[in-house]
Amino acid sequence: MSGLIFDSHAHYQSGQFDPDRAGVLAALPGAGVAGVVECATDHATSQGALALADQYEFVWAALGVHPESLIQENASTRTRFGGDWAAELAAIRPLYEHPKAVAVGEAGLDYHWPVPKDAQLALFEAQLKTALELEKPIIVHDREAHADTYALLKKYRPKGVVHCFSGSAEDALALARQGLFIGLGGAVTFPGAKRALKVIDALPPECLLLETDCPYMAPVPCRGRRCHSGMIAHTAAFIAARKGIPEQTLLETAAQNARRLFGL
Ligand SMILES: [Zn+2]
Repeated sequence: MSGLIFDSHAHYQSGQFDPDRAGVLAALPGAGVAGVVECATDHATSQGALALADQYEFVWAALGVHPESLIQENASTRTRFGGDWAAELAAIRPLYEHPKAVAVGEAGLDYHWPVPKDAQLALFEAQLKTALELEKPIIVHDREAHADTYALLKKYRPKGVVHCFSGSAEDALALARQGLFIGLGGAVTFPGAKRALKVIDALPPECLLLETDCPYMAPVPCRGRRCHSGMIAHTAAFIAARKGIPEQTLLETAAQNARRLFGL
């Protein structure tokens, strides 16, 4: 089953990969990985995502500012731009001209961490506008912020994916009807992920993207370990079994969905 995995959401710039990043990435094609979207979280990682995309033929880049970067001390949002996210977005803007810059993101809302609400709403809205202006998809982070996230997605109607989807099956269907993809990762395999099972049951494979969010969220049976894109095989096996379709069909459909969304 080699070359079928498309990981629509990865963070290979995480410090967890510092000891062996090149080795991990070089091994991915051998583990069945055909594509990876490296998601930036600030200006520095937007540049870094493009550097990885330059280096690895199977890597593409999403460029943007994550809401958590507003309060993260080592994010360039603070270290270089002193919290002036508008200046940071302006600095990122020319980077979208790179041929492997395929999406805006990771952008969205995070009400789990104490990120000032006004700032993160304005930052997300600005990036939704960028996505529309550039006609690129947006990779959306929604943590404990469903109502505000869905309201803004409804208002702007971008192309994109709601990654690590944690809403209800009804919400998933409404977003899919709007043309958005639903991103599912290792968390769906965790015992107790009852809501995720309903989402899996409700959605046709044509609406799904597979993802890792690596180094986080390794699926069962790798839970707790550092995650990499090859582990999507476990997530796919789980979802395919639940839906009663061949794993290969699910992987192929999800990869096609990703290529269509990212224009590859
Ligand atoms: Zn992420």
